[in-house]
Amino acid sequence: MGQTKLIEDEGCKLCPLHGTRNNIVWIRGTSEKDVDIVLVGEAPGRDEDLTGKPFVGKAGRLLDKWIEDAELTSYAIVNIVKCRPPANRKPLKSEIRACLPHLMKQLHDLNPKLIVALGATPSSVLTNRKEVVANIGKMFKSRYGTIIIFPHPAYIARGVDVYVPIKELREIAKKKLEGG
Ligand code: URA
Repeated sequence: MGQTKLIEDEGCKLCPLHGTRNNIVWIRGTSEKDVDIVLVGEAPGRDEDLTGKPFVGKAGRLLDKWIEDAELTSYAIVNIVKCRPPANRKPLKSEIRACLPHLMKQLHDLNPKLIVALGATPSSVLTNRKEVVANIGKMFKSRYGTIIIFPHPAYIARGVDVYVPIKELREIAKKKLEGG
Protein backbone atom coordinates (compact mmCIF):
# COMPACT_ATOMS: atom_id res chain seq x y z
CA MET A 1 0.00 0.00 0.00
CA GLY A 2 3.08 2.22 -0.05
CA GLN A 3 2.25 4.38 -3.05
CA THR A 4 -1.39 4.86 -2.09
CA LYS A 5 -0.24 6.11 1.30
CA LEU A 6 2.01 8.60 -0.50
CA ILE A 7 -0.91 10.25 -2.30
CA GLU A 8 -2.73 10.45 1.01
CA ASP A 9 0.16 12.01 2.89
CA GLU A 10 0.85 14.62 0.25
CA GLY A 11 -2.68 16.03 0.58
CA CYS A 12 -4.66 16.07 -2.64
CA LYS A 13 -5.72 19.36 -4.25
CA LEU A 14 -7.06 17.95 -7.50
CA CYS A 15 -10.55 19.41 -6.98
CA PRO A 16 -12.10 22.26 -4.97
CA LEU A 17 -13.33 19.91 -2.20
CA HIS A 18 -9.89 20.20 -0.61
CA GLY A 19 -10.83 23.72 0.46
CA THR A 20 -13.69 22.60 2.72
CA ARG A 21 -12.54 19.20 3.96
CA ASN A 22 -11.19 18.42 7.42
CA ASN A 23 -9.71 15.09 6.36
CA ILE A 24 -9.16 13.01 3.27
CA VAL A 25 -11.31 9.93 3.84
CA TRP A 26 -9.28 7.07 2.51
CA ILE A 27 -9.95 3.51 3.68
CA ARG A 28 -11.31 1.34 6.47
CA GLY A 29 -10.69 -2.39 6.87
CA THR A 30 -7.67 -4.17 5.51
CA SER A 31 -5.20 -2.24 3.36
CA GLU A 32 -3.49 -5.39 2.18
CA LYS A 33 -3.09 -6.63 -1.37
CA ASP A 34 -5.40 -9.40 -2.58
CA VAL A 35 -8.22 -8.51 -0.21
CA ASP A 36 -11.38 -10.54 -0.95
CA ILE A 37 -13.91 -7.71 -1.20
CA VAL A 38 -13.81 -3.92 -1.59
CA LEU A 39 -17.06 -2.08 -0.80
CA VAL A 40 -17.30 1.27 -2.58
CA GLY A 41 -19.55 4.11 -1.38
CA GLU A 42 -20.22 7.54 -2.83
CA ALA A 43 -18.55 10.24 -0.74
CA PRO A 44 -17.85 11.01 2.92
CA GLY A 45 -20.40 12.70 5.14
CA ARG A 46 -19.84 14.75 8.27
CA ASP A 47 -18.73 11.91 10.59
CA GLU A 48 -16.36 10.58 7.95
CA ASP A 49 -14.89 14.04 7.28
CA LEU A 50 -14.26 14.51 11.01
CA THR A 51 -12.66 11.08 11.55
CA GLY A 52 -10.97 10.48 8.20
CA LYS A 53 -12.60 7.03 7.99
CA PRO A 54 -15.31 5.93 5.53
CA PHE A 55 -18.76 4.83 6.72
CA VAL A 56 -18.50 5.56 10.43
CA GLY A 57 -21.97 7.18 10.82
CA LYS A 58 -25.47 5.72 10.71
CA ALA A 59 -25.10 4.24 7.21
CA GLY A 60 -21.75 2.79 8.29
CA ARG A 61 -23.31 0.97 11.22
CA LEU A 62 -25.76 -0.68 8.86
CA LEU A 63 -22.95 -1.50 6.42
CA ASP A 64 -20.99 -3.13 9.28
CA LYS A 65 -24.03 -5.25 10.05
CA TRP A 66 -24.21 -6.37 6.39
CA ILE A 67 -20.50 -7.23 6.49
CA GLU A 68 -21.01 -9.27 9.64
CA ASP A 69 -24.09 -11.03 8.23
CA ALA A 70 -22.23 -11.84 5.02
CA GLU A 71 -19.38 -13.21 7.19
CA LEU A 72 -16.76 -11.17 5.37
CA THR A 73 -13.37 -11.29 7.02
CA SER A 74 -11.12 -9.86 4.31
CA TYR A 75 -12.58 -6.55 3.13
CA ALA A 76 -11.90 -2.86 2.67
CA ILE A 77 -14.31 0.09 2.51
CA VAL A 78 -13.58 3.11 0.30
CA ASN A 79 -15.51 5.86 -1.50
CA ILE A 80 -15.62 7.14 -5.07
CA VAL A 81 -14.82 10.66 -3.82
CA LYS A 82 -12.41 11.02 -0.91
CA CYS A 83 -13.44 14.44 0.43
CA ARG A 84 -16.82 15.55 1.79
CA PRO A 85 -18.99 17.57 -0.60
CA PRO A 86 -20.42 20.60 1.25
CA ALA A 87 -23.78 19.94 2.96
CA ASN A 88 -23.55 16.30 1.83
CA ARG A 89 -24.60 17.14 -1.72
CA LYS A 90 -23.91 14.58 -4.42
CA PRO A 91 -20.37 14.80 -5.79
CA LEU A 92 -20.13 16.68 -9.10
CA LYS A 93 -19.02 14.88 -12.25
CA SER A 94 -15.88 17.01 -12.24
CA GLU A 95 -15.08 15.97 -8.65
CA ILE A 96 -15.64 12.30 -9.48
CA ARG A 97 -13.38 12.63 -12.53
CA ALA A 98 -10.66 14.37 -10.52
CA CYS A 99 -10.79 11.72 -7.77
CA LEU A 100 -10.90 8.68 -10.04
CA PRO A 101 -7.11 8.13 -10.17
CA HIS A 102 -7.14 7.65 -6.40
CA LEU A 103 -9.83 4.96 -6.62
CA MET A 104 -8.03 3.28 -9.50
CA LYS A 105 -4.82 3.22 -7.50
CA GLN A 106 -6.60 1.80 -4.47
CA LEU A 107 -8.24 -0.94 -6.53
CA HIS A 108 -4.95 -1.71 -8.22
CA ASP A 109 -3.14 -1.95 -4.89
CA LEU A 110 -5.87 -3.95 -3.14
CA ASN A 111 -6.49 -6.24 -6.14
CA PRO A 112 -9.87 -7.43 -4.77
CA LYS A 113 -11.63 -10.59 -5.94
CA LEU A 114 -14.95 -8.73 -5.89
CA ILE A 115 -16.08 -5.09 -5.71
CA VAL A 116 -19.42 -4.14 -4.13
CA ALA A 117 -20.90 -0.94 -5.62
CA LEU A 118 -23.06 0.69 -2.95
CA GLY A 119 -25.80 2.64 -4.71
CA ALA A 120 -26.12 4.78 -7.81
CA THR A 121 -22.85 6.74 -7.88
CA PRO A 122 -20.47 3.78 -7.54
CA SER A 123 -22.68 1.69 -9.81
CA SER A 124 -22.64 4.35 -12.50
CA VAL A 125 -18.88 4.99 -12.20
CA LEU A 126 -17.85 1.32 -12.03
CA THR A 127 -20.39 -0.33 -14.37
CA ASN A 128 -21.95 2.52 -16.31
CA ARG A 129 -25.34 1.57 -14.85
CA LYS A 130 -27.31 4.31 -13.13
CA GLU A 131 -30.30 2.11 -12.39
CA VAL A 132 -29.66 0.40 -9.08
CA VAL A 133 -32.89 -1.25 -7.95
CA ALA A 134 -33.30 -3.33 -11.13
CA ASN A 135 -29.66 -4.44 -10.89
CA ILE A 136 -29.36 -5.30 -7.19
CA GLY A 137 -27.43 -8.55 -6.76
CA LYS A 138 -26.35 -8.63 -10.40
CA MET A 139 -22.69 -8.99 -11.29
CA PHE A 140 -20.86 -7.14 -14.04
CA LYS A 141 -17.34 -7.38 -15.41
CA SER A 142 -15.69 -4.02 -15.87
CA ARG A 143 -12.17 -2.72 -16.30
CA TYR A 144 -12.10 -2.32 -12.52
CA GLY A 145 -12.86 -6.01 -11.90
CA THR A 146 -16.00 -7.98 -11.04
CA ILE A 147 -18.68 -5.72 -9.57
CA ILE A 148 -21.86 -6.66 -7.68
CA ILE A 149 -24.49 -3.95 -7.26
CA PHE A 150 -25.94 -3.29 -3.81
CA PRO A 151 -28.31 -0.56 -2.63
CA HIS A 152 -26.63 2.22 -0.63
CA PRO A 153 -27.03 1.55 3.12
CA ALA A 154 -28.25 5.13 3.71
CA TYR A 155 -31.14 4.36 1.36
CA ILE A 156 -32.09 1.30 3.40
CA ALA A 157 -31.56 3.19 6.69
CA ARG A 158 -34.23 5.65 5.48
CA GLY A 159 -36.68 2.77 5.42
CA VAL A 160 -36.82 2.05 1.68
CA ASP A 161 -37.86 -1.54 1.15
CA VAL A 162 -35.56 -3.07 -1.45
CA TYR A 163 -33.75 -6.36 -1.36
CA VAL A 164 -30.24 -6.43 0.12
CA PRO A 165 -28.41 -9.45 -1.32
CA ILE A 166 -26.45 -10.41 1.81
CA LYS A 167 -26.91 -14.15 1.32
CA GLU A 168 -25.65 -13.90 -2.25
CA LEU A 169 -22.62 -11.92 -1.10
CA ARG A 170 -21.84 -14.54 1.54
CA GLU A 171 -22.03 -17.31 -1.04
CA ILE A 172 -19.98 -15.43 -3.65
CA ALA A 173 -17.35 -14.57 -1.05
CA LYS A 174 -17.09 -18.21 0.01
CA LYS A 175 -16.78 -19.42 -3.59
CA LYS A 176 -14.21 -16.76 -4.48
CA LEU A 177 -12.21 -17.70 -1.40
CA GLU A 178 -12.19 -21.29 -2.54
CA GLY A 179 -10.77 -20.09 -5.86
CA GLY A 180 -14.02 -20.37 -7.88
N1 URA B 1 -21.98 7.42 2.60
C1 URA B 1 -20.99 7.11 1.72
O1 URA B 1 -21.25 6.90 0.54
N2 URA B 1 -19.75 7.06 2.17
C2 URA B 1 -19.42 7.26 3.43
O2 URA B 1 -18.24 7.18 3.76
C3 URA B 1 -20.46 7.57 4.34
C4 URA B 1 -21.73 7.64 3.90
